[in-house]
Amino acid sequence: MSDRLTSIPEIYGSKVFNDEQMKKRLPKDVYKALKKTVDEGMHLQMDLANVLAHAMKEWAIENGATHFTHWFQPMTGVTAEKHDGFISPEAGGKVLMTFSGKELVKGEPDASSFPSGGLRATFEARGYTAWDPTSYAFIKDDTLCIPTAFCSYSGEALDKKTPLLRSMQALDKQAIRILKLFGNTDAKRVITTVGPEQEYFLIDQDMYEKRPDLIYTGRTLFGGKPPKGQEMEDHYFGTIKPRVSAYMKELDEELWKLGIPAKTKHNEVAPGQHELAPVFDTTNIATDHNQLTMEMMKTVAGRHHMVCLLHEKPFAGVNGSGKHNNWSISTDTGKNLLEPGATPSQNAQFLLFLTAVIKAVDDYQELLRMSVASAGNDHRLGANEAPPAIMSVFLGDELTDVLKSILDGTDYHDKEKKLMSIGATVLPHIPMDTTDRNRTSPFAFTGNKFEFRSLGSSASIAGCNIILNTIVAEALSEFAEKLEGAADFDSALTSLIHDEIDAHKRILFNGNGYGAEWPVEAEKRGLSNLRSTVDALPAFVADKSVKLFTKHGVYSETEITARYEILLENYYKTIHIEALTMAEMVKKNVVYSAVEYQSRLAEEIGKKKALGVTSNTEEKLLKEAAGYTDKMSDSLQKLEADIAKAEGLTDAMETARFYHDTVLADMNELREPVDALEAVIPSELWPYPTYGEMLFSIREEATV
Ligand code: ADP
Ligand code: MG
Repeated sequence: MSDRLTSIPEIYGSKVFNDEQMKKRLPKDVYKALKKTVDEGMHLQMDLANVLAHAMKEWAIENGATHFTHWFQPMTGVTAEKHDGFISPEAGGKVLMTFSGKELVKGEPDASSFPSGGLRATFEARGYTAWDPTSYAFIKDDTLCIPTAFCSYSGEALDKKTPLLRSMQALDKQAIRILKLFGNTDAKRVITTVGPEQEYFLIDQDMYEKRPDLIYTGRTLFGGKPPKGQEMEDHYFGTIKPRVSAYMKELDEELWKLGIPAKTKHNEVAPGQHELAPVFDTTNIATDHNQLTMEMMKTVAGRHHMVCLLHEKPFAGVNGSGKHNNWSISTDTGKNLLEPGATPSQNAQFLLFLTAVIKAVDDYQELLRMSVASAGNDHRLGANEAPPAIMSVFLGDELTDVLKSILDGTDYHDKEKKLMSIGATVLPHIPMDTTDRNRTSPFAFTGNKFEFRSLGSSASIAGCNIILNTIVAEALSEFAEKLEGAADFDSALTSLIHDEIDAHKRILFNGNGYGAEWPVEAEKRGLSNLRSTVDALPAFVADKSVKLFTKHGVYSETEITARYEILLENYYKTIHIEALTMAEMVKKNVVYSAVEYQSRLAEEIGKKKALGVTSNTEEKLLKEAAGYTDKMSDSLQKLEADIAKAEGLTDAMETARFYHDTVLADMNELREPVDALEAVIPSELWPYPTYGEMLFSIREEATV
């Protein structure tokens, strides 16, 4: 075995204050008390916190840390940190390195500049951060990072972690009720698990730096199709180039040090596009880890003179990037509740959980759609490369047949011709087929988990998992309500499953989600098709959603309103920045190139005329370029006028609509003549790297 392989277990988690470190460094009774606190979700006692903080600090200093920070996830979608030194000056010009239990448990960042949707204005000016003891502290650079939740003093959540933890609690509570009905008393807690597959692009840093649109907005705002794109299908799962491979290796190592189980890596469909998937974990840990993964992807790329693009659609005309959210429900004893079991009662239980998910997705399809809405993701959903904006559930043939026989009241025979019915015999073996799965479904059952494929690559996975957990909690609570009072459990269960599948069968769809027939069929079925973020966001503040979230204690009504405002604002601000960037790039450089090109042509024409040469090539070229240039300047003028109009709007929804309907349309209109000019103007005069240059910028050899 090579050195490299033997050292992986050594480096794995070496930057994490994990269970092993706690066991090693804490007095036995403290360790036990801490475990109990975490397992039972209790508050940490201050004397415990002090001992723990001391051990954590000693460990961190041994590992090179000089600072600590509460690491949190405000609603900007990225993580925030404010570093404090461990140093504490002493008399005589000396310093002590200190870190108290109080500092571990609670922080008070001056957070007035984070988006709060008006929450802090109405309540308290300051926020505080509180340690999430279920997520281990870790070292990044020279700083001990403590994963924390971020709230206002009146208790409103100002972050993504708090509602996620609340949603996990909600699901736990309802799932335990269901398990009890099946006589399962071993499980003390039910958790949700997530394995997010992360897609990304890598381009050479030199190319990136020449594109203000990538720098300011994360995506290219114009650029013609390169002669070669993804049509040869030679990139997907293709050989990884040495330079990319070196990057992936280093990224893996950095992630392993942080205790992030990065497992799978491969090339994706588009040139320059790749994917990384970790082994799944508890949802809140997976969320923390995915944030860290995205950060590390960017950091490590810099060391290889590359830039990692996490935008959902960096390049028009080639595949965008998503994040597949593999999601399941599991007991604290490690039993996956979405895994068909080996005994009849386990299978009946599985069918009930499955039915709950189906019901949840159908009842709250708009909310689920809303959870993946963003300006960036709007370019993907429904663009025949990602699932459509219509939510539907894919179950595969086997399970569909099982549900069909339940609906029809007919007997279901599995492959070995064994008879099955709920609560009586064993379910057929549901193959976990990884080869011919339906890739066009937004929400697919993949053997023992659901894969939600609509999420954008740059999004925090907190958003969609808060919704998923809560809507499934609601379905389970409705089921528990019905079953707890039943005189005959078995027959109540059988009719419940039958009736619920019957009520929600419209959401089941195994066909091609990219096909033109599907939106038509979906409309007939009464499924909603919310094409853009502005169409999708109102579902968040609908009465039905407010009822749902307040019932399960996931969001208060004020928190919902605040978040809705932030999402809307985020949407139109994004397009605003894109529009300004585009206008500036065109005005400053593209117009100049076009004019310069035309003047060179005009000069040529003049020269030829003077010599008496008759040729109309230059004239044709000049006319063509002049036509595009006129179109460009008209479109630019319109865009600028509409940006000014948008700036004058005050209502958030009206503003967002205007950006969607008018400003985005202007940008698309402007893009056409710009791309046409790019195609005719010589490379030496074109001011920006082309798609071809960017997408194929990573060559075989390393440039560093
Ligand atoms: P594919 O690319 O074929 O969809 P991958 O193997 O790349 O599949 O990704 C599957 C992801 O699902 C991995 O992150 C894996 O850890 C995760 N996963 C597997 N089982 C579960 C589960 N019970 N809960 C959540 N995620 C799971
Ligand atoms: Mg997948």
